[in-house]
Amino acid sequence: MDKKIICLFGPQGSGKGTQAKILTDRLNIPHISTGDLFRIAIESKTDLGQQVESILKSGELVPDQLTFDLLKERISQNDCAGGFVLDGFPRTLNQARLLDQYVEINHIVVIDISDKESLKRLTNRRYHVKTGEIYNLYTSPKPSKEIEPELVQRADDTEEAIKTRLQTYHSETEPLFVYYKEKVMHVNGEQSIDKVAQDIAKSLNISI
Ligand code: AMP
Repeated sequence: MDKKIICLFGPQGSGKGTQAKILTDRLNIPHISTGDLFRIAIESKTDLGQQVESILKSGELVPDQLTFDLLKERISQNDCAGGFVLDGFPRTLNQARLLDQYVEINHIVVIDISDKESLKRLTNRRYHVKTGEIYNLYTSPKPSKEIEPELVQRADDTEEAIKTRLQTYHSETEPLFVYYKEKVMHVNGEQSIDKVAQDIAKSLNISI
């Protein structure tokens, strides 16, 4: 594989973050998640963070240009020179067009799971503030008894916000699979983490 700009798509809870981490460890390139960039801005109470906090909480999308500007600033940093794994961007046709004018995505991987599975995984997803690790009370990785009391839920992992996010994924993001055409590869996300990682590696023609 020559260039390494890989974009992961999938409904909320499909395991994009987990798989992005496996890929970035293997390929030695950074994992860029626009959701993470927004959450860092919110935690740091920057102007941007204050601007987007209520949008994230509701599960709506942040305006395209604002999101693209944040992403552009991140991917122009030195560590992205050799490529990166994108998680959560682009999410609309307009964002895809903005990105196209800037870089060319080489590989698109869609991790498919049903809405029912997404809802089940997300309502059980928990976050360990101290370490930043993500756990799941329903799937894996499950937290230990010691860690469980220290876990919190993401503000947008409520049933109402998850439904809004899924609806937006279907109406705004899925049309991108037609836009990117032959670059798109689908992987079944309702398998073990290892099996999903193997299927992604196979579709990218790399070994994990
Ligand atoms: P995520 O962690 O990818 O689920 O993103 C969390 C939230 O951040 C989303 O529900 C949106 O409010 C916002 N967000 C992340 N990426 C984007 C994007 N590409 N465009 C617009 N909003 C985004």
